Amino acid sequence: MTAQLETAAYVETDRPEQVRILRTAIPGPQSLARHQHRQGVLSTGLGTTLPVFIERAGGGILVDVDGNHLIDFASGIAVTTVGSSAPAVVRRVREQVARLTHTCFLVTEYDGYVQVGEWLNTNTPGAHAKKSALFSTGAEAVENAVKIARVATHRPAVVTFGHAYHGRTLLTMTMTAKNVPYKDGFGPFAPEIYRAPLAYPFRWPTGPDHCAMEALNALEDLVVKQIGAHNTAAIVIEPIQGEGGFIIPPAAYLQGVASLAREHGIVLIADEVQTGIARTGAMFASEHDGLVPDLIVTAKGLAGGLPLAGVTGRAEIMDAVPAGGLGGTFAGNPVACAAALGVFETIEELDLVARARQIEAIARPVLEEAAYGNGWVGEVRGRGAMLAVEFVVPGTKEPAPAAAAAVMAACHRQGVVTLQCGTYGNVIRLLPPLVMPDDLLRDGLEVLTASWKGL
Ligand SMILES: *Cc1c(COP(=O)(O)O)cnc(C)c1O
Repeated sequence: MTAQLETAAYVETDRPEQVRILRTAIPGPQSLARHQHRQGVLSTGLGTTLPVFIERAGGGILVDVDGNHLIDFASGIAVTTVGSSAPAVVRRVREQVARLTHTCFLVTEYDGYVQVGEWLNTNTPGAHAKKSALFSTGAEAVENAVKIARVATHRPAVVTFGHAYHGRTLLTMTMTAKNVPYKDGFGPFAPEIYRAPLAYPFRWPTGPDHCAMEALNALEDLVVKQIGAHNTAAIVIEPIQGEGGFIIPPAAYLQGVASLAREHGIVLIADEVQTGIARTGAMFASEHDGLVPDLIVTAKGLAGGLPLAGVTGRAEIMDAVPAGGLGGTFAGNPVACAAALGVFETIEELDLVARARQIEAIARPVLEEAAYGNGWVGEVRGRGAMLAVEFVVPGTKEPAPAAAAAVMAACHRQGVVTLQCGTYGNVIRLLPPLVMPDDLLRDGLEVLTASWKGL
């Protein structure tokens, strides 16, 4: 695969050299000066994981303004799955941006929008007739999925889960579980949002073996006894939770959620904003557990870094909305659609679904070996190129966010960009671009594992 990633067709001349290079401390002096300037310009509400200014990126490398080559274990939060500035994306975006930048699809049509819709209809799980609508952000698409489900069912209530993350708009922050930083002070929240406990095997009070059944019972109680199934429009679930801590619910649980939805005519919405588009070693994470959602929401990895999102699902549900009920000025922008077509081309050409599995095959043994006998690591989990390490106080399951922060800081100092996540902030997650060469992946993993051995 590394050989394939190096083929002339793929490598652009301006792709940065695929090696970690530290020329200064991280952040370097140029980044520090710019960061200080930014603080006088931009709202403090905008957090930053690593205050480093990037001027070039590609493959598995981010090049900062001090000339450091950083290993990218973030992909801009699971966005540049095909790598930043992937050649097919650059080529199609260049062609498109020179021809037309915008018409608004609600005013006049263009091919790219329809082609992206067709790809989504074909490649999302389930053989039923499907239709799509495009938007610009994940939160916007989640909101629209809820709107569609409400219109289709004539019901108000929406069920979400513990540890869920669905976005930062009023509706989606209400659907999100974690208070700080997403909700605190931003209320009042949207009505008719209910929360069931998520089947979180590592933290289920009575142990992982009871997790699926007990969590299903709690969900059924919520839907049937507390809300009333006939009032419930949708159940919205991430097949693998992202911000909540890369939590993988048991397959039996996801299937149970699906059958509860089916039994009561509730629309099952899979939020695959983070997991979708080749990230987990399947095109969609729902496939791992045989989940066939009624609606599936995509965004992050869909367009290689340009803002594009989609809702795809059962034709009769998607068509319940009268003309004019969906859309947006920028929704399905032609340049973003061109980028998405470049993403699909790249995934197919480089077989990146298989590459995500290969990344897991390389990374998981390294992580597990380094975790073995180390009390700080509670669990190594994930699928494909969506992997995480949960840190705990040794000898307990008590979350250890300070340990995760220390590991992350050590990685950052050594030029490896990692992200924290989890309701308790004690999970480090890996989301490398799928085009990261093996050597770079191994180098980054070595830095990561060495830094927790030093705890
Ligand atoms: C990031 C994310 C969203 C929100 O997407 P935005 O583009 O940031 O609005 C929604 N759901 C999940 C699962 C996400 O990871």
